[in-house]
Amino acid sequence: MSRLYIFFYFFARDKKNIYFLMVKEYNYFVEQKFINIFSIKKDVLIMIKNSFNNYDAIIIGGGPAGVSAGIYLASRGLNPIIFEKHKIGGTVGDVSSVTHYLSVSNDETGESFSNKLKNQLEKYKIPVINEEIISTELDGVIKIIKTKDKEYVSKVVIIANGTTPRKLGIIGEEELFGKGVCHNPSKEGILYKGKEIFVVGGADGAIKEAIYLSQFAKKLTIIHFEDKIGAIAEFKNKLDNLNNIELCLHSRVAKINGRNYIESLDIIDEKTKEIKNIKTSEAGVFIYAGSTPNTEIYKDLKLKDNFIEVNNKMETNISGVYAAGDICDKQIRQVATAVADGTIAGVNATIYLKNL
Ligand SMILES: Cc1cc2nc3c(=O)[nH]c(=O)nc-3n(C[C@H](O)[C@H](O)[C@H](O)COP(=O)(O)OP(=O)(O)OC[C@H]3O[C@@H](n4cnc5c(N)ncnc54)[C@H](O)[C@@H]3O)c2cc1C
Repeated sequence: MSRLYIFFYFFARDKKNIYFLMVKEYNYFVEQKFINIFSIKKDVLIMIKNSFNNYDAIIIGGGPAGVSAGIYLASRGLNPIIFEKHKIGGTVGDVSSVTHYLSVSNDETGESFSNKLKNQLEKYKIPVINEEIISTELDGVIKIIKTKDKEYVSKVVIIANGTTPRKLGIIGEEELFGKGVCHNPSKEGILYKGKEIFVVGGADGAIKEAIYLSQFAKKLTIIHFEDKIGAIAEFKNKLDNLNNIELCLHSRVAKINGRNYIESLDIIDEKTKEIKNIKTSEAGVFIYAGSTPNTEIYKDLKLKDNFIEVNNKMETNISGVYAAGDICDKQIRQVATAVADGTIAGVNATIYLKNL
């Protein structure tokens, strides 16, 4: 069928932008184009954009929580859009194996799991914009979210942009990133075949990746600041059956040395405060030092220890704004709980929109 576009012009005083309203086969939407030509008042613009916007809900983050929220909205006849700065799948997309989530296959990798999420988004025709959200204005009925050079509005925002791995903040960590300091075991592990590998951290994620990486390593050393490994029994048992693992407990990495590759690590003993220099050659270092929530772009939300406070409907303190997944203040951060949060947020956002 041929497509009919009728263009209207609106003018915004503060933004100095021209907006085209396109009337396309009775579907209305707004496109922001041509900077510095005309101008109109911001509230008029928002009103116009809101009345004609094609998307019912904006979802920030394309990890398990965001994808789940999108599917539940779309399945209820609504039209969500996802903003994802990196790639669909989120944190779990980079792990060597996805475990414990029901129905994953025995050899499920982060990549294969992410591909399934992508397929589900395609099935529901949920658009994904590969851009980072850099700021938000969430109070008021109309929510505004901004990328580097665009602004979007919606009546509902679902926040699902998770966490970022915490850095150790030591010399060598940034400088040797990509030259030995790694973040993706399934892609980078193979580069250290027959070499030494160090895994920093002792929680589930770190130990699971250490088990995977041990197949490549001549020797794999786990450096953990506590006296004991903090992983679940399943992972501890697997670790005990490997013969190329060394534990370096109550210890922290103080410095990573080298120029084009890792030559040595300075390790501090937490008990004696003694610093040892461990010589190595072209080793791989994988760091799992916890994570911090990506909440810096939300100025209006109630936070607890920087995580977003939500009630059992995944509502935040602002009406029409929901949060789901690892970014929330919660006890258990896993795919299962992220997906469940996304489901609850998606269903309650639907009810909110239908009652507006
Ligand atoms: C090493 C490791 C192994 C793990 N293994 C498992 C496992 O086997 N099984 C399991 O159940 N759980 C596992 N987890 C936990 C699991 O990864 C998380 O609980 C889950 O990914 C949380 O999903 P989420 O959607 O809340 O957030 P995330 O997966 O973190 O997704 C957030 C998304 O938002 C995007 N984003 C961030 N900021 C912005 C922005 N400003 N604009 C646009 N996009 C943005 C990110 O790029 C990301 O894709 C593991 C975690 C780690 C660290």
